[in-house]
Amino acid sequence: MSKIYCLDIGGSFIKLATGNGDDLQEVEAVATPPEYGAFIDRTADLLAAAGIGPRDRLGVSIAGSIDVDNGSVHAAQLPFLASVDFGSDLGAAIGVRLGTPLKSAIRIENDADCFALAEATFGAGRTFDNVFAIILGTGVGGSQVYRGELIRGFGGSAGEWGHGPFIQKQDPSTPGFVPQFACACGQKGCINTMGGARGLEAMHAAAGNPLRDSKAIIDGWAGGDTACTATVASYVSLLTDALAVTLNITGAEIVPVGGGLSSATALISAIDSGVRHKVLRPRPEPLVIRGQTGQNGGLWGIYAQILKDRAAA
Ligand SMILES: [Zn+2]
Repeated sequence: MSKIYCLDIGGSFIKLATGNGDDLQEVEAVATPPEYGAFIDRTADLLAAAGIGPRDRLGVSIAGSIDVDNGSVHAAQLPFLASVDFGSDLGAAIGVRLGTPLKSAIRIENDADCFALAEATFGAGRTFDNVFAIILGTGVGGSQVYRGELIRGFGGSAGEWGHGPFIQKQDPSTPGFVPQFACACGQKGCINTMGGARGLEAMHAAAGNPLRDSKAIIDGWAGGDTACTATVASYVSLLTDALAVTLNITGAEIVPVGGGLSSATALISAIDSGVRHKVLRPRPEPLVIRGQTGQNGGLWGIYAQILKDRAAA
């Protein structure tokens, strides 16, 4: 049977794993080259050295949004992928090393989608039909898996609960004031501008406090610091407003959380208890919980997708 090779490509590292059944073994991680030619060569060399063959399948989880029309990838940390079709170029480079092309097309998926697939298949959502996974990283992402299938939606935009003008214009003297920060998507007041680590820091500074990183703000909150407590209260209140609406629309049964803030256990608990009382059908059980696939969510998610592809072939 063909083997499955999985890549997780981020701005700092390229990780390679090979899968077999319920087991996925990480083979190697290398630094991401900063230039496109070197990036393609390094990745193809890594796969050739790991023994990929023409009948094997290759999947890629990548930290960026994928343009399904031309194969370009838009990622802040991988700017050299914006005007190329890297899947085709990588396939050609592997073909040169093997002396024959790969039989199956390379499957490329966004890392937030992979995290949702990973959690729905192998992680915290594996016993549920309807999983809405969220990323609380530098910004905010999300993706829905229903009965094992990723919901893609128009232009692949389904699940993007972090975007859209959500935060209302307020008088700056309002207690708990949150500015309508500009978002990279072109809107103002997106949940993405306040829900990640950078957003938490920006909210804290906007309230007139000295600059502190997200960990210091969360630690301050846990230790009873008044300013940090006020910031985290505003953060949880706004984030759970948006998440409750999202869960009413999607009807999701469980919300695994990934990204850097998911390791802040008390914060995830506060989000869980906040949102459980705002959704249309309040839940007695935990709804928002830390994901189980963690740092390897991208690899496990693309692995889940390729297992599905192979079973359907
Ligand atoms: Zn936005």
